[in-house]
Amino acid sequence: MDLEEKREKRPPVTPMMIEEEAALRNGSRGLPPGSWAEAAGPRPRTTERHIAVHKRLVLGFAVSILALLAVTMIAVLLSVRFEECSAAADGPPRASGNGSLPGAARQPPGAGQPPGRPEQEEEEKEARGGEVVEEEEEEEWQRRRELPPWTRPRLPRHLRPLHYNLMLSAFMENFTFSGEVNVQLEVLNASRYIVLHAHRMHIEAVRVAEDKLAGGVRVDRSFFYPQTQVFVVVLNRSLEVQKSYNLKIIYNALIENELLGFFRSSYVLHGERRFLGVTQFSPTHARKAFPCFDEPIYKATFKISIRHQATYLSLSNMPVETSVFEEDGWVTDHFSQTPLMSTYYLAWAVCNFTYRETVTKSGVVVRLYARPDAIRRGSGDYALNITRRLIEFYEDYFKVPYSLPKLDLLAVPKHPYAAMENWGLSVFVEQRILLDPSISSISYLLDVTMVIVHELCHQWFGDLVTPVWWEDVWLKEGFAHYFEFVGTDYLYPGWNMEKQRFLTDVLHEVMLLDGLASSHPVSQEVQQATDIDRVFDWIAYKKGAALIRMLANFMGHSVFQMGLQDYLTIHKYGNAARNDLWNTLSKALKRVGKSVNIQQVMDQWTLQMGYPVITILGNETTDNVIVISQERFVYDIDAKPKDPALGDSSYLWQIPLTIAVGNTSHISSEAIIWVSNKSEHHRIPALEEASWLLGNINQTGYFRVNYDIRNWRLIINQLTRNHEVISVSNRAGLIDDAFNLARAGYLPQNIPLEIIRYFSEEKDFLPWHAASRALYPLDKLLDRAENYNIFNEYILRQVASMYLKLGWPTNNLNKSLVQASYQHEELRREVIMLACSFGNKHCHQQAATLISDWISSNRNRIPLNVRDIVYCTGVSLMDEDVWEFIWMKFHSTTAVSEKKILLEALTCSDDRNLLNRLLNLSLNSEVVLDQDAIDVIIHVARNPHGRDLAWKFFREKWKILNARYGEALFMNSKLVSGVTEFLNTEEELRELKNFIKSYEGGAAVSFSRAVETVEANVRWKKLYKEELFQWLRKSLTH
Ligand SMILES: [Zn+2]
Repeated sequence: MDLEEKREKRPPVTPMMIEEEAALRNGSRGLPPGSWAEAAGPRPRTTERHIAVHKRLVLGFAVSILALLAVTMIAVLLSVRFEECSAAADGPPRASGNGSLPGAARQPPGAGQPPGRPEQEEEEKEARGGEVVEEEEEEEWQRRRELPPWTRPRLPRHLRPLHYNLMLSAFMENFTFSGEVNVQLEVLNASRYIVLHAHRMHIEAVRVAEDKLAGGVRVDRSFFYPQTQVFVVVLNRSLEVQKSYNLKIIYNALIENELLGFFRSSYVLHGERRFLGVTQFSPTHARKAFPCFDEPIYKATFKISIRHQATYLSLSNMPVETSVFEEDGWVTDHFSQTPLMSTYYLAWAVCNFTYRETVTKSGVVVRLYARPDAIRRGSGDYALNITRRLIEFYEDYFKVPYSLPKLDLLAVPKHPYAAMENWGLSVFVEQRILLDPSISSISYLLDVTMVIVHELCHQWFGDLVTPVWWEDVWLKEGFAHYFEFVGTDYLYPGWNMEKQRFLTDVLHEVMLLDGLASSHPVSQEVQQATDIDRVFDWIAYKKGAALIRMLANFMGHSVFQMGLQDYLTIHKYGNAARNDLWNTLSKALKRVGKSVNIQQVMDQWTLQMGYPVITILGNETTDNVIVISQERFVYDIDAKPKDPALGDSSYLWQIPLTIAVGNTSHISSEAIIWVSNKSEHHRIPALEEASWLLGNINQTGYFRVNYDIRNWRLIINQLTRNHEVISVSNRAGLIDDAFNLARAGYLPQNIPLEIIRYFSEEKDFLPWHAASRALYPLDKLLDRAENYNIFNEYILRQVASMYLKLGWPTNNLNKSLVQASYQHEELRREVIMLACSFGNKHCHQQAATLISDWISSNRNRIPLNVRDIVYCTGVSLMDEDVWEFIWMKFHSTTAVSEKKILLEALTCSDDRNLLNRLLNLSLNSEVVLDQDAIDVIIHVARNPHGRDLAWKFFREKWKILNARYGEALFMNSKLVSGVTEFLNTEEELRELKNFIKSYEGGAAVSFSRAVETVEANVRWKKLYKEELFQWLRKSLTH
């Protein structure tokens, strides 16, 4: 599963330009909280305001804005009407012609009403008649002093499903469906109860038989227990051990509008709205589509049939075996039986999409299904082509063939996640799979590619071998995230994703989060269904991936690969826990004569939160001996005493530390040292007077490294003299470590700033990217300070020369150059962003010229890769008319990605009235999509002129915001951290604490993280701000 992820704020252009896509982000999950280094929107700062814009033109545009607003209003009114019509059309489903499926056509009570929300649960229980737990049943268990099996968070273990026969009828005209499920059960322990998951459905009939033909077992009663989302069948006698029974349930339910379970969405084709139904079962929503044992461990085989109108087609995990047509225009598709699999990977869809097809060397049929206009335009061809190549890549890498006869990729207009790896039927939101090469930027292509690589990895890690329980979700997600980089390297060998981009996008990013005292271990215990969403966070994805990369590196990539092959072969079609993986990998190491207890090593990294900082000190008394010590890295050292566990000296890791020794022209080959104590002495042979030490070669380890000042100085000298002696990834690593060590107080503030002095010679993208991400939070700590200009001036000096060398891009990127120019274009973008944000005059003029050209010609000739920078710079520098112009363009554009960067540009204004106006408009769902409103508030908070406005707005509107986003955990925590992360005065800290005392609603974890972050900010300013400015003053006068 891929979370709705923004790799970086950039201006991708999406191929689909239809209005309801904009609604896609409604209810989808946003970035997880606290990503401090999320790429910066440029924040120009200048005194040269009011660069004139042609007033007359603007007048003309004002008229068009009015016209446009009028048209928009009418369109909105019309679409509201349309929704009303379709809702009103929710009559009872057609009752005729349902011959083959019993009970197929009953309207579930409550159909036509909005789907049940928690507050409606009570009503629902009543509406669904007599399906509440019967008190006497509970009393009996109380007498036995046991918890009734249906009240426990996990299903009781006495039954095991072997096979499901599931027959569905989908009524797309009123969004209901009916089903009959027959579950073949094996009895492990005798019991009168059958407890299985079922949620938000109406059950019509329940039968239990010893086998399908005879031997009925009488059902005493049955009831729902909504707290644990189960359905309980009480029998009049016990099911006998080792016998097999058949449980038949006939039910019906809504095809929901809420993007979970079996849900609906729509798109417009030739002016006509068309609907589709599709499923999202991960992690706990299969139970909304059919009664089932909805825990990953209950793998079973499934045989699915879907009956639908012949104007639609249906898809599921397996290919259609036969289709039976009826005279009245209905058809039933019978799909082949699946292999053993978990319920949450089951999927189906009912739609009228078309497809294109390709076949892999091993004969797997790959199809991409999408709306017919997209297929016709060829927007799915890129994805189809790389999918074929990637299946071949994974089959070769894992030495396990793809397990199903086909793989369908389904591009849907709405989905709660970027994509979901259902076995044989993976579902993608359109923006993460459709691509039109003529209008897509490189970064958009990269996003699409990585999402596909991720989901395909899951066909093995997840679908074929499934984690036993959700605490190990990081295993499958960590693997898929790590392989995004490995698989992309296979497709684009020159991009060096695994060696380079992994560092800034994964490692550096998650170390920010995991460096908080309030972090959590990557492996998290979880029981309740409602808590399971919580485990899908950036720690699971990114720390998981970083740990796997460290493991692959200390094992050696070929042994690691062999180990994975064994693991998949041993556990295919089954479940595995992390220890199964560790054992298999240890055995693989043993075979090549190495002995490392991988479980022992990895448990320290997966069960303890946080990560260590290693300090390497030269020993002044003994030559060639160094002292290596470890401690847990935290940003706020003061947070330690508050949490005794943090001060606990038992916080230790076994660290695979690689070390190299370098001198002016040469670096020794690395050696690996296992560090497992608080402090250790090690002998380093070739250590001479002028040589420096470098730890964590190529930053393959999940930890930071600090040195004595003398060694830092030697490294800085080396970078200035000849930086290429140190590898690109180590240059990026040194930069990220130095800035973060300084921020947490482990290192003097000037060291990171001295490191980037060699940047006039740095021609590689990665070190620039690392620096820009590390500078961003520092900038936010200083941007309201009196002496800010000194800092600004210093950064500009480091950027100026490379900015001059690289110049600006043109808009006609030759696509055949994508491979060659990727690094160069990314570098240029990064340098321009820094130049414009910190106020390089030429950069500002260039941005203003481009904006003026757009306004006067009404043709947007701004290069795709720098649009967001230009828009933001323009809004910040130029007068209110430009803001109005961008506002109008925001309304008129239909491309979702363009809309987003236009909206974000509006937050760059220096004008507090405009910022306030924008904040107030952001809560109007008809103007700003719910999901985007969060970004507006967060971006205003990043603007030094708007930080207090956003913070005030957030507190005043908390009730509304919490009601809107409260259930989407990700969004709420993104909002809380986004608004608070750059607060840094005592007053703001007090305000935050007071607010928390009085607030209502969820997000407690986010607020405790916010307090820790703001405390660390305040502390940093108190202790280090003056030190930094003093050094900057001195440095600028020399
Ligand atoms: Zn995933």
